[in-house]
Amino acid sequence: MNADSFLPLVKAGRGSTAMHGDHGRIAHAVIGGPGGTAKALCGTRPGMAASWSAVIAPAVTCIKCIRMMAAIADK
Ligand SMILES: [Zn+2]
Repeated sequence: MNADSFLPLVKAGRGSTAMHGDHGRIAHAVIGGPGGTAKALCGTRPGMAASWSAVIAPAVTCIKCIRMMAAIADK
C-alpha cells in the first residue's frame, strides 16, 4: 500500500446526521474515487445515505488520516 493511493475527500450531501460533526469541512484520506462510500483511513464513513464529495480537496486535513498516511509512508 502506498500513501499516494489516497484521495483527500470531504463528506458530501445535505441533511447529514453529523455523527462526527465534520460534514463538509474535514478532508479525509479515502481509497477509491470521489462519490464513493469507502471507509477513510481513520475509519469514518460519509454516512448511511451519503457519499464522499465529487470534488477532490486540495489536501487531507483530518489529523487521524494524516497520521495513518505518515505511518504508511514510513514503511
Ligand atoms: Zn479521517
